[in-house]
Amino acid sequence: MTDFKRDGSHLAFCPPVEKWDDWVELDPEAWPRRVERHYQLVPTVCFNCESACGMLAYIDKETGRVEKFEGNPMHPASRGRLCAKGPATINQIHDPDRVLYPMKRSGPRGAGKWERTSWDEVLETFGTRIRKAIQENRGEEVMYHVGRPGADFIMERTLQAWGIDGHNSHTNVCSSSARLGYLLWHHADRPSPDHANARFILLLSAHLESGHYFNPHAQRIIDGKMAGAKLAVMDPRLSNTASMADYWMPTYPGTEAAVLLAMAKVILDENRFDAAFVQKWTNWEELEVDGFQARGQAFEATIEALKKHYAGFTPQFAEKESGVKAEVIVKIAREIATAGSRFASHLWRGSASGNLGGWQPARALMLLHVLTGSVGTEGGHNLNAWNKFVPKPYKSPPPQKRWNELLYPQEWPLCTHEMSFLLPHFLKEGRGRIEAYFTRVFNPVWTYPDGFSWIEMLRDEEKVGLHAALTPTWSETAWFADYVLPMGFSSERHDLMSQESYAGRWIGFRQPVNRVLRERNGEKFEYTYQANPGEVWEEDEFWINLSWAIDPDGSMGIREYFESPQQPGKKLTVDEYYGWMFDHSVPGLPEAAKKEGLTPLEYMRKYGAFEVTRDVYKQNEKALSATDLADTKIEANGVVTKASKPIGVMVGEKAVVGYNTPSRKLELFSKTMADWKWPEFTLPEYYRSHIHRAAREASEGRLSDDFDPRYVPTVEWPKDAHGAVYTLLPIFRLPNLIHSRSGNAKFLYEISHKNPLWLNPVDSKKLNARTGDLMKVHTEIGYFVLHAWVTEGLTPGVVACSHHLGRWRIDKDEQVERMSSAWVDLKEVGKGQWKMRQLESVSPYDSPDPETKRVWWSDAGVHQDITFPVHPDPVSGMHCWHQMVRVEKAGSEDRYGDIFVDTNLSFAVYQRWKALARPAPGPNNLRRPLWIPRVVRPEESAYYMNGNEKK
Ligand code: SF4
Repeated sequence: MTDFKRDGSHLAFCPPVEKWDDWVELDPEAWPRRVERHYQLVPTVCFNCESACGMLAYIDKETGRVEKFEGNPMHPASRGRLCAKGPATINQIHDPDRVLYPMKRSGPRGAGKWERTSWDEVLETFGTRIRKAIQENRGEEVMYHVGRPGADFIMERTLQAWGIDGHNSHTNVCSSSARLGYLLWHHADRPSPDHANARFILLLSAHLESGHYFNPHAQRIIDGKMAGAKLAVMDPRLSNTASMADYWMPTYPGTEAAVLLAMAKVILDENRFDAAFVQKWTNWEELEVDGFQARGQAFEATIEALKKHYAGFTPQFAEKESGVKAEVIVKIAREIATAGSRFASHLWRGSASGNLGGWQPARALMLLHVLTGSVGTEGGHNLNAWNKFVPKPYKSPPPQKRWNELLYPQEWPLCTHEMSFLLPHFLKEGRGRIEAYFTRVFNPVWTYPDGFSWIEMLRDEEKVGLHAALTPTWSETAWFADYVLPMGFSSERHDLMSQESYAGRWIGFRQPVNRVLRERNGEKFEYTYQANPGEVWEEDEFWINLSWAIDPDGSMGIREYFESPQQPGKKLTVDEYYGWMFDHSVPGLPEAAKKEGLTPLEYMRKYGAFEVTRDVYKQNEKALSATDLADTKIEANGVVTKASKPIGVMVGEKAVVGYNTPSRKLELFSKTMADWKWPEFTLPEYYRSHIHRAAREASEGRLSDDFDPRYVPTVEWPKDAHGAVYTLLPIFRLPNLIHSRSGNAKFLYEISHKNPLWLNPVDSKKLNARTGDLMKVHTEIGYFVLHAWVTEGLTPGVVACSHHLGRWRIDKDEQVERMSSAWVDLKEVGKGQWKMRQLESVSPYDSPDPETKRVWWSDAGVHQDITFPVHPDPVSGMHCWHQMVRVEKAGSEDRYGDIFVDTNLSFAVYQRWKALARPAPGPNNLRRPLWIPRVVRPEESAYYMNGNEKK
């Protein structure tokens, strides 16, 4: 401990590394006495969102108990800072309601009866069932379904070692529309904006307060602002992000692409675009639009054709669509043009995940980057693939030979990720069944739309043979599992992570801090659960052991990938798995470790993170080496191919890698869209979402010419749905909650525990509603009841409700999270007709943690997502979250938190949306374009339909 100094120099932002082994602080509980406490600080990585910020666990040297978490100053992305969710890890690890031992159901599925079991029994049961499925050629019946992964690569490797196509993810309810918009341009499915060096930043979501890479990005956005960058935010809601902006554009939801294309038109018409960049780095020569063909024409003629094509996107048209004033659109377009190559932006959820056609705003936004030449530049838009670093493990299994149609069905050949939210409907249609199902730190019953269809699927043992919920906490989904298997939080597990946080590449190492510390002090553990609370395990060791249980003698060819690289035949340890990667696959790490007399693994255990490089700009300009160029051919369009596969492109006289698209350039014109039955979308376009004014009118029986049934399904209201029609925005995040992962973080729930219905005063007047009034919101499949909150922070005609709240529990006290959920009565009152009523909300309770007696809040919010039908976008496959709803004041029979859903109606809505899709095959009898990325990519032959042959 440093002595107090009047000038404050004794205060340190973070403890310096040399003091991590004995960090001294005064015990706040002993105050006013000055009692010193000695801590050992062990780095790990936060597991509460995908940002992967670096944390330090403060472990009391006397008790061995983790007392708090703070930022790790040695982590290059988070730089010692955390958001509220990082330090709240302390609540999660000491939560008295958490799952501590593997549990097995002891009554019918969903009845809530559990008994403790052993990890050996779990491995034996799942090992036997999975082995049999694989041996009987039923590999598709084994499915791993992940929420936010919080880890890179190990699961993909595991599933490929098993030879199955079984990876499912939540991404299609999260970000896949934005991903499609980006990847059509440059193959990378997300941006890495260089906010810190930008001169103008445009955010199409609440990225500053709750973005995907929230804390690291927020720091860089503020760095950029401090250095003089202007910030503009497009959001129908006055979010905290919008309140920090220089310009707030409250667009009517779903019209964002119209505004962006109007900005592009201004930049084109005023000739303020970077012509040299567009000519050099886009595939303009392939453009075919409105009868014009660029091939053989001058670049200038192509620009004229583009100007003509976008002529209708006047700022006045965009104003009419969006509500944003034409002069604001023009002003911002000019500011973007002035920023030029230092224009940064982000779009992840928001308009992309809310709207039908939500992939178009990302595509239109990229057009602004292309026109300003701000791709790959300092202060501009970089590709995530350039800023994320995923080291290779010691031995990689070959890609699987199979294609699982429950994951990638034929109807949505351009979906970027698995069509996971439709799984109950697929099983209802008889497309398959599941023998062994793992939900991994994931709660689809609560997080997905149409959760009652999930309950119906999960409770049906014909459809789902065996279900394990791998989770640190009890959840609505775990309730319907056969096994609940406790997995560790941030400080109880190993994972390796990297994200595109800034202009640099880094890795962060999550580690079980108690095990690490005790091993440093001479103890030895075979498995992490021996050092964790109870028998909480970690997934790495679980998958290694399960792989051995599936293939105990190695005869299936699985076990070899889970054997020690140093001692073949012996089981792989986590030290060996990560140690090998750090030794061989992370450039610069062995040298950095050597300088300190450490092995690379010791270095990562000591610091928890490593910056690999900062040389990240303009990766597309990297020259092809002589080895790359051996046996290549230059095609007529300048693409360099090797064995018929594009590997680069000629730019002038130079062969460079370019982008990973078919043209190896930024694809202004997407031939892929034409080839896959969407010829009207070869260029960035705007089309009207399912919640556009025209669709709203159509839902009230007033069909206008603006309503286009080729893209927008009709709405059929349930008989008893009354009230005025509104657009509901259900997807905005609260910065301090984590979907369903924060239910056991009392510090976070103390801050946020209500999700009222936002109403503009214009609308509250129409509805005769005041703040606190009970409102009934009807969806196409049911309704929910909640309180109104009247606010001017929202566009009129639109209502909003945050999706983070509304947790519920079926049992009052057992196997539940009491501080964040309402105790409910759940009934199936008719076939597929579900009613939920809150019996009791949150209240203080006795537990080993005295804080639970001090719970003062008495609300858990209302679960709205469960009343939404599925809306698969016909192109991207993304669930379109925004809802057309009818809103009225609640009746005398209605109570706060009431929910009703008819899953027969939800199946009908699914059918209406599915009918808009344009299914595979595409050219050559392909299931999906070969160049578009796929999670856990199978071998190429699996991409062809009908006997896996090219036709
Ligand atoms: S942004 Fe917050 S929740 Fe996400 S990793 Fe960082 S500290 Fe954790």
